[in-house]
Amino acid sequence: MKSEILINFGGFVPLSTVDWRGRSVCTIFFRGCPVRCWYCQNKDIQTGTDMRSVESIIGMIQDAQLLISGVVFSGGEATMQQEPLLYLAKKCNSMGLLTGLHTNGVFPDTISLLIKNRCIDHIALDIKARWETYTNRLGVDCVNEVKRSLSICQNAAKEGNLPEFEVVITLFAGYDDELPSIIRDIADTSTLVLQQGVYPGLTVLSEEDLMDIADRLKRPVHIRTRKGGEIAYAGNRNRRSSGKRER
Ligand code: SF4
Repeated sequence: MKSEILINFGGFVPLSTVDWRGRSVCTIFFRGCPVRCWYCQNKDIQTGTDMRSVESIIGMIQDAQLLISGVVFSGGEATMQQEPLLYLAKKCNSMGLLTGLHTNGVFPDTISLLIKNRCIDHIALDIKARWETYTNRLGVDCVNEVKRSLSICQNAAKEGNLPEFEVVITLFAGYDDELPSIIRDIADTSTLVLQQGVYPGLTVLSEEDLMDIADRLKRPVHIRTRKGGEIAYAGNRNRRSSGKRER
């Protein structure tokens, strides 16, 4: 008999409208992350153990299914748990639900496997620093893995094997000078999200500040703030409407 697949569980949100642009989804948090971002909002699930059967997670999704069109896998770092993630993604697709992933890109093989199995519809990849400072900033040597993840996702999106791909950069005041270097390997065809970083004691960049920063990049971006939600921004104070994909 095949042994039951287990997930190190971090939490479940039955209904979210902020984890996937334009969609109502449920969000599953996987426990455990090898990275230590100083601004992490989910420190309580970076470590620890709470093993559950994947079937119990499917039960939670089924309970939420009437209200949602997709499921987002978040964390912690979901790709660290390849077997339960792949199982859940396939199962969600078979239930008629779209699947999304928020990832730090440290496990490119898992990302590749999800794409090869055609069971992931949306990937949001965090790029956290310039490549030259990545190891120091994150506390682990993972720069080659993240570069590989970026390349895998960009190629898959270009070849039509990944319907939605976006790069998310969390910005704090004083760090925006790095942005042109951070985005140099990000294809113009990839959606770029500038996300407001929030941390106690630090100045928070406003939506206007983020627009000024985006203007200097000379490419369309999405701007995400706590107060204003997410806007598509074409530059020169020109907001665009966000697109929504139907299944
Ligand atoms: S990668 Fe995400 S979960 Fe891991 S430490 Fe950074 S912000 Fe937290």
